[in-house]
Amino acid sequence: MTSQPNKLAFNSGWQYAAAPEGTDHFSIGKRYGLFINGEFVKPATGKYFNTVNPATEEVLARVALAGDEDVDRAVAAARKAYKGVWSKMKAAERGKYIYRIARILQERAREFSVIESLDGGKPIRESRDIDIPLAAAHFFYYAGWADKLEYAFPGRKPAPLGVAGQIIPWNFPLLMAAWKIAPALACGNTVVLKPAETTPLTALKLAEVISEAGLPPGVVNIVTGAGKTGAAVVDHNDVDKVAFTGSTNVGRHIMMALAGTNKKYTLELGGKAANIVFADAAIDQAVEGIVNGIFFNQGHVCCAGSRLLVQESVADQVIAKLKDRMETLIVGDPLDKNTDIGAINSAPQLEKIESYLKIGQAEGAEMYQSSCSVPKKGYWCRPTIFTGVSQSNRIVQEEIFGPVLAIQTFRTLEEGLTKANNTPFGLSGGVWTDKGSKVFKMTQGIRAGVVWANTFNKFDPASPFGGYKESGVGREGGLHGLGAYLSLD
Ligand code: NAP
Ligand code: MG
Repeated sequence: MTSQPNKLAFNSGWQYAAAPEGTDHFSIGKRYGLFINGEFVKPATGKYFNTVNPATEEVLARVALAGDEDVDRAVAAARKAYKGVWSKMKAAERGKYIYRIARILQERAREFSVIESLDGGKPIRESRDIDIPLAAAHFFYYAGWADKLEYAFPGRKPAPLGVAGQIIPWNFPLLMAAWKIAPALACGNTVVLKPAETTPLTALKLAEVISEAGLPPGVVNIVTGAGKTGAAVVDHNDVDKVAFTGSTNVGRHIMMALAGTNKKYTLELGGKAANIVFADAAIDQAVEGIVNGIFFNQGHVCCAGSRLLVQESVADQVIAKLKDRMETLIVGDPLDKNTDIGAINSAPQLEKIESYLKIGQAEGAEMYQSSCSVPKKGYWCRPTIFTGVSQSNRIVQEEIFGPVLAIQTFRTLEEGLTKANNTPFGLSGGVWTDKGSKVFKMTQGIRAGVVWANTFNKFDPASPFGGYKESGVGREGGLHGLGAYLSLD
């Protein structure tokens, strides 16, 4: 079967009634200071920047821009809290504070979900069902480890490192903050966190939660700003550990800045994962997995399945079904519970994605986009696939970080594996097959930190996450994530 005889007509007869999530159950401040030593303070720079709603281009709030002096103040507060309180506190007590953060996040989950969608453009269904519950789950998980570090590393003497400087991206703002803060605190470190410029709001709301949980002042400090603020955190002499999640390019700069220093570091960087569909796979499930792999969070996902490798004998069938499925995806208002694909996070990111759409076509690939309409205001990109691509194409080799899938075919398992690994990245991968033997062969052969079998984009605080090659250094999550915040003599 290559195409369906009676083409289904989508979006013609009827439409879903709008189902918007409310916004009257919380408030966003007009202006936010820096969260240093347990309180919101004015930045020494005197400067503020806007954070906008990418679905409407409206300004949501003004946020303080931290300069070197502010970062210095935050690191000093973190050092004082480390020496004076946090490293001395009984581990079980530390665990209780982290547990309290998790509980309050759960209680305020609806507020956090809506703010995450407003500030970053992701569909409310995802922030409500994935980002916020997973962020709380990370705090719960690491709260449990706080007084069991000797059991995690038997025969060793786990000790905190000191002050952790942490820098996070805009694609999973609260979740990335949780990935960073929870293990650091559980291990007895204090923190200076720099959220991304376009999505600072949930980190600032998290500062409120941290106050509400009664954490001693200075244990967690949040300094908002752009790349320069991040660089100031990395370069600060009194930071003992740097944890960075972001692009490979910035990761390289950070690695250079850290060379020759005593600072420990973990880098979680970019990806270009292969999602590999064998002919014996359950095709309809695989199509759902392809959609989830590349269109989840507008494709702003480091471990997105942005390359589809499909076995040649089923390629036409898979692509036809995928195109039909793409027609049913609703692109639009992130706060509408029907929405599948929200807004692109920022104007520069949309520009970057659009430049890749041009590059793909110039490279000779065939582009297909779903026919959905998109709102006039805001930043939008229709779900897009490219066929007729070759291994050397830039759209196959480079991370686009948008809802854009490059499709290639393969005949044998070896060819599929070779193509999957032919990339500078190694963060994730996916395999779809009915045969357990193929799952084992592929999961052993794919050089990536995580490989999913007959599913994709599944996360759990107990499983480590991280990359090979240009996808990063070190692991976050699970027991492995503790090791990155401890010295183990
Ligand atoms: P990015 O440009 O590298 O930014 C990441 C963070 O670093 C932001 O907070 C950014 O600040 C800051 N930053 C920028 N320049 C810096 C510098 N010179 N020194 C220190 N910090 C600096 O990446 P992005 O575009 O925000 O995020 C997308 C990338 O993150 C993708 O490549 C994606 O694959 C990767 N990512 C990886 C993982 C993973 O776990 N492996 C998870 C999520 C995302 P501003 O944003 O304020 O400029
Ligand atoms: Mg924003």
